[in-house]
Amino acid sequence: MENRGTAIGAKATAEPTENPRDITSTNFRLAADRLGLDAETRTLLTTPFRELRVEVPVRLDDGSLKVFLGYRIQHNGARGPAKGGIRYHPAVTVDEVRALAEAMTWKTSLVNIPFGGAKGGIACDPHAMSQRELERLTRKYTSRIQVILGPYRDVPAPDVNTNAQVMTWLFDEYSLHHGYTPACVTGKPVELGGSLGREQATGYGAAILVRELMRELGRPLAGATVALQGIGNVGSYAARALAREGCRILAVADSKGAVFSSKGIDLAALFPHKAATGKVQGLAGTEAISNGDLLELECDILIPAALECVIHRGNAERIRAKVIAEAANLPTTPDADQILERRGIAVLPDILTSAGGVTVSYFEWTQNLQQHFWEESQVFAEMEKILVKAFRNVVERARSEKISYRTAAYTIAVERVARAEKLRGT
Ligand code: GLU
Repeated sequence: MENRGTAIGAKATAEPTENPRDITSTNFRLAADRLGLDAETRTLLTTPFRELRVEVPVRLDDGSLKVFLGYRIQHNGARGPAKGGIRYHPAVTVDEVRALAEAMTWKTSLVNIPFGGAKGGIACDPHAMSQRELERLTRKYTSRIQVILGPYRDVPAPDVNTNAQVMTWLFDEYSLHHGYTPACVTGKPVELGGSLGREQATGYGAAILVRELMRELGRPLAGATVALQGIGNVGSYAARALAREGCRILAVADSKGAVFSSKGIDLAALFPHKAATGKVQGLAGTEAISNGDLLELECDILIPAALECVIHRGNAERIRAKVIAEAANLPTTPDADQILERRGIAVLPDILTSAGGVTVSYFEWTQNLQQHFWEESQVFAEMEKILVKAFRNVVERARSEKISYRTAAYTIAVERVARAEKLRGT
């Protein structure tokens, strides 16, 4: 699953008042101030292009009818078709989807791939639903949003609690309405036109960026200790890649809690344990801790890879990691950012750290449009080239303007979209 950990538990560590839109609006404002953008341009760049809210009635297996609320929000399309995942989670709200859609605009711009930003979501608890119910939910949702989708309009992908199977239902339902259209969605199974490497891309991409960050800071990666919140698709591939680099994974969390081992968690035992029991806790040789404890562990690298707003003013003073690499979208609130900056903790921002997935989605889209497929080695090599280039751009901007990596990343991203809007004459 493109499942940044199901992390309902992670959400419990957020301050109740946090709104993820404050994160995007503060980060945008800091960048817009640096770029000297006028008020009109600011309004243009922050106003979502299109918001669709749909009621999704689904016949459950017990014969009853339940109506779910779904959204698809296209934030900006100046640089290309809107792009971004669809999440299934009980905490999905319109503001969350708005913020995540905006974050996608800045993410695709930062890595300079020809897309805008979008996000979708359905407020539901997928863990309490059968596969058949999920299929009916996905098909009905797709049938209600397909009017605004399309390979040159808006291209969905997996996100929290959605996966290649969900994308297949979406692809199939879209094709019923429009004819065979593999480029209408990314993150499909390889057998149906998905790209090799897409499943691993976000996690592997995060690991590449952690490697670059450590190199930049002159810290060794081999032997570095890592705490990872979220062990879904993103976290699990990031953990595997970092363990291969010689990192010691001190702690991992899922939505039900976390486990810690000072000797390092044995991933070869962790994944079968999680598959068999549905949770990380109970793994032999580990100590059970809470999601909140994990965030405050002493370690070299903290990787939030679950939900938004988990690092906030209530815990930022207690974070003891040397660096934070944000594999989740919007995990750090603006108040926390200020605290972390004052405390000298480097933060590699989400719009960079989590960009591997959408980068390989771009490759999937081009492969579908051309009906010409790449070797896995080519996918990973091209992804690395794009991510390392974006990383260098961020580091150089941060250094020359004496700003944080986050503000540097947003400044580069906002500048490109502002330029595209201007060229197109909006
Ligand atoms: N949901 C992923 C993200 O937040 C991937 C989006 C995509 O591939 O379009 O970046």
